[in-house]
Amino acid sequence: MMPFSELVLASHNAGKLKELQAMLGDVVRVRSIGEFSSVEPEETGLSFVENAILKARHAARVSGLPALADDSGLAVDFLGGAPGIYSARYADGQGDAANNAKLLAALEEVPDAQRGARFVCALALLRHADDPLPILCEGLWHGRILHEARGDQGFGYDPLFWVEEQQCSSAELPPALKNQLSHRARAMALLKQRLGLA
Ligand code: IMP
Repeated sequence: MMPFSELVLASHNAGKLKELQAMLGDVVRVRSIGEFSSVEPEETGLSFVENAILKARHAARVSGLPALADDSGLAVDFLGGAPGIYSARYADGQGDAANNAKLLAALEEVPDAQRGARFVCALALLRHADDPLPILCEGLWHGRILHEARGDQGFGYDPLFWVEEQQCSSAELPPALKNQLSHRARAMALLKQRLGLA
């Protein structure tokens, strides 16, 4: 049984809002942070989970509603987990193509066996801004970094992320299949269980 009938999603991304609303069905109305504030909090955390909590706390504070936030990125073993929480701004804010070029350069000459990586998604749900016990769920998607880009679906690092089970890059997966396999899908499935919806 859900303890609330409305929540705010700490994201201006309409796609994420739609995805979450579909997942929660009629049980909870999902509202956008854009209804309450256009200010985005600075992501000063040093981990995915800290940044997710910080964004959810801000959303709960400005809306007065329970709030959910996600933080995601790519962690590459050979780079000690980089680009990690800095995934979106790895190439100093120059965008996906520059991020991918920087990653390929950082892994030049690195053999396949050392190119392991994982996409990470942390979700934080706060019942109110001062909630001392957030619900935290993490989703991991393991793969390996290719030597060159493949595919044109998805976004971000998808063209460089080899998905062993499907024998293709995540940018070659049909979007519906990516949405079943991905780090976000795994974290969402756990959240659904925690909320008693699965
Ligand atoms: P955000 O949490 O949506 O802001 O994502 C942070 C960054 O991580 C994105 O800008 C991408 O660079 C990367 N990222 C997160 N999820 C994915 C994914 O599913 N595919 C490719 N890149 C991703």
